[in-house]
Amino acid sequence: MPLIDSHCHFDFDAFAADRQQVWARCEVLGVQGMVIPGVSIPQWRHLFALVNTQTGWYGAVGVHPWWVKDLAIVPERLASAIVERVGRERSGANRCVAVGECGLDANIETPLAEQLPVFKAQIEAAAALKLPLIIHCVRAHNEIIRLLKQCYLPCGGVIHAFSGSREIAEEYWKLGFYLGVGGTITYPRAAKTRAALAAMPLESLLLESDAPDMPHAGRQGQRNSPEYLPAVADTLADLRGITSAAVIAQTGNNARALFGI
Ligand SMILES: [Zn+2]
Repeated sequence: MPLIDSHCHFDFDAFAADRQQVWARCEVLGVQGMVIPGVSIPQWRHLFALVNTQTGWYGAVGVHPWWVKDLAIVPERLASAIVERVGRERSGANRCVAVGECGLDANIETPLAEQLPVFKAQIEAAAALKLPLIIHCVRAHNEIIRLLKQCYLPCGGVIHAFSGSREIAEEYWKLGFYLGVGGTITYPRAAKTRAALAAMPLESLLLESDAPDMPHAGRQGQRNSPEYLPAVADTLADLRGITSAAVIAQTGNNARALFGI
């Protein structure tokens, strides 16, 4: 069963020098697919130029909260800019599988009030395009759950790098959102998140690296890589008392169902 990295910033400069070598090692380890999120308007073109070079790579169109401060158009224009770019990619190789990554991050300087209209525009675009939404949430679960309850997203989405309680996890799952499981669970101190992800149905989980960010326990300060994804599967399997093969099979099915790949 192939592993799918549901969230990897493989287009970032951190992989410029050895991207092909890293991917070759991934394939040997069974990682055969990845979704590379959009982060800013100027990045979209480069992202899809890269995605379209390799079977198994997919892209998304979005503006990440960290890039909101650089947004060169008014938020009111963003939904139509996304719809336009997705249309262009769909008429070509059609490797565009989601809107995002977008969301709210309470740990950065850009105020939530400034992030909010940019996030809302992307919810609107995902609904119009009938694509799943990739959400980045840092210390903003309540705001995001409130927003998601107010809108209808026919394809749901994923709360990437989920960190939080079982109650919060269940709220998202009820709203049609998968939970992205990454390097966080390799840290024993992340007890609440580990307990939540051990208790949630396997049908609600996706595996992700979030590389080059989110280094695993024991690799702090190093570049994270999709080639470490098997360790996330192994850790989740240990927490749940099941085999890694079972984790890989079900989460792979989940990723294929969500992204239509
Ligand atoms: Zn990300």
